Amino acid sequence: MRCATCDSGVRVDVRRAKMSERDDHAAVVLGVPMQECPVCGERFLSDEVAEALLRIMDELLRRPEEVASIHWDDAISAA
Ligand SMILES: [Zn+2]
Repeated sequence: MRCATCDSGVRVDVRRAKMSERDDHAAVVLGVPMQECPVCGERFLSDEVAEALLRIMDELLRRPEEVASIHWDDAISAA
């Protein structure tokens, strides 16, 4: 699918880490499936992935560790 941001790139499937922070805590989810534009670098998450990612991030941010991380595949298979 063509990139809506720059209108010149064609989005490709990639897996990237996503980070979120709240107060003094950070959460990292590795290997999140998304599409990326190789021209402008814009990233696109599907609604399903975005919703699941929010839930995973929220759970990680409740942990006592300052930095909590999980791989997407592990988070999804545990859900
Ligand atoms: Zn683009």
